[in-house]
Amino acid sequence: MELTLSPEELAFKAEVRAFLQAQLKPEWRGVSDIDNRPRPDIVAQWQAALAAKGWLTAAWPTAHGGLGWTPMQHHIFKEECSKSRAPKIPNMAIGMVGPLICAFGTPAQQEYYLPRIIGGADIWCQGFSEPGAGSDLASLKTAARRDGEEYVVSGQKIWTTYAHVATKMFCLVRSDPQAARPQAGISMLLIDMKLPGITVRPIHTIDGEHHFNEVFFDEVRVPVSCRLGGEHKGWDVARALLAFERSGIADVVATRQVLHDVATIAAAEPRGNATLAEDDDFANRLARLEIALDSLEILELRVMEAAARGAARDYDASILKILGSELKQKIHALGIEALGPLGAVWPDDDAPAHPSGAGRHLVVDALFYRAGSIFGGANEIQRNIVAKSLLKSAAEV
Ligand SMILES: Cc1cc2nc3c(=O)[nH]c(=O)nc-3n(C[C@H](O)[C@H](O)[C@H](O)COP(=O)(O)OP(=O)(O)OC[C@H]3O[C@@H](n4cnc5c(N)ncnc54)[C@H](O)[C@@H]3O)c2cc1C
Repeated sequence: MELTLSPEELAFKAEVRAFLQAQLKPEWRGVSDIDNRPRPDIVAQWQAALAAKGWLTAAWPTAHGGLGWTPMQHHIFKEECSKSRAPKIPNMAIGMVGPLICAFGTPAQQEYYLPRIIGGADIWCQGFSEPGAGSDLASLKTAARRDGEEYVVSGQKIWTTYAHVATKMFCLVRSDPQAARPQAGISMLLIDMKLPGITVRPIHTIDGEHHFNEVFFDEVRVPVSCRLGGEHKGWDVARALLAFERSGIADVVATRQVLHDVATIAAAEPRGNATLAEDDDFANRLARLEIALDSLEILELRVMEAAARGAARDYDASILKILGSELKQKIHALGIEALGPLGAVWPDDDAPAHPSGAGRHLVVDALFYRAGSIFGGANEIQRNIVAKSLLKSAAEV
């Protein structure tokens, strides 16, 4: 594939830069970097600016506001936003449930939900995992018993990111316990989190923050009109969603920002008469990680380009997920090492600052991102997917 930017792509890059320069207020820059704490007030304003330009839903189907950008245009846009430290747009709404409603929603659902998603009227959470159903998602047990024009939902979800602030959940439920295959008896419901019978309990993570929760359903009555896709056909909807979720997961652009932070820390960290950045061994290790990231970036672009032609292989997203999450963890680990004693300090608000300014954020991020090889489908499972596909292809030769 062509990696040199064409005149049109260079013009697009200049347009994105000019937009960011004009629209991104200085106090908005870097807010998503602060300890993974979302800032809904600022995100909402940034989301509105992007929506007014038409860029918020660029990746959606053109019938619903998508712009039909090329993979390179998406990459340029993400890269420029990351470089200017624009607030991160909540992926659950714009990146996940929005495209799903475009693909599977009824006209009435599209008319109701899509403008709300674009306008940021709801915070969404994803209710898939359960205490006994994570990697083996099809074994989920949360029951949805049909009672006329309602489902009566009872059961438990876990690891539900943002459930404590969410107003809506896209949720997988077992609507047919008698189905021959576990995947055949599942439906997807769009659930209002204010319905009676829903209880949310926090789970605190190793970074000291509150990202995710347990969610309990006790005879919650959900209208049948809130089902996305056919009855008992929720597995097809979920499969489409998991493909969107994994496709952005290599997250090369964000990882490059972490690499940049590590280099900034090393340049400010004294070693004898020089700095850590000038230490041969450290410089060598940093360079190797940068080369690995460059290679991953090219792989991600190739996969995006193949996907745009409808030629992506089933396991491409799994390869990106494995390589992207493990590389980001290695870069974080080098950053913690570069921080020296400050890397070992519990990252509470009183922790001393590193002279580079990057220290505390990197420690919190590194702790949180231990989960990067688990969420979005654990890496062991992704390895199984890759192995099964490749061994099957080898057996067919
Ligand atoms: C930060 C974070 C945010 C999350 N947010 C959400 C969310 O918003 N909504 C949601 O629904 N879920 C969420 N999850 C849950 C996530 O999807 C699950 O943690 C993940 O699918 C793994 O499931 P599990 O935790 O039940 O682990 P298990 O499936 O119990 O796996 C435990 C270990 O065993 C390994 N293992 C399991 N089966 C196999 C196998 N067949 N072969 C080899 N190894 C195997 C796994 O790889 C893993 O290492 C989140 C998780 C994290 C960490």
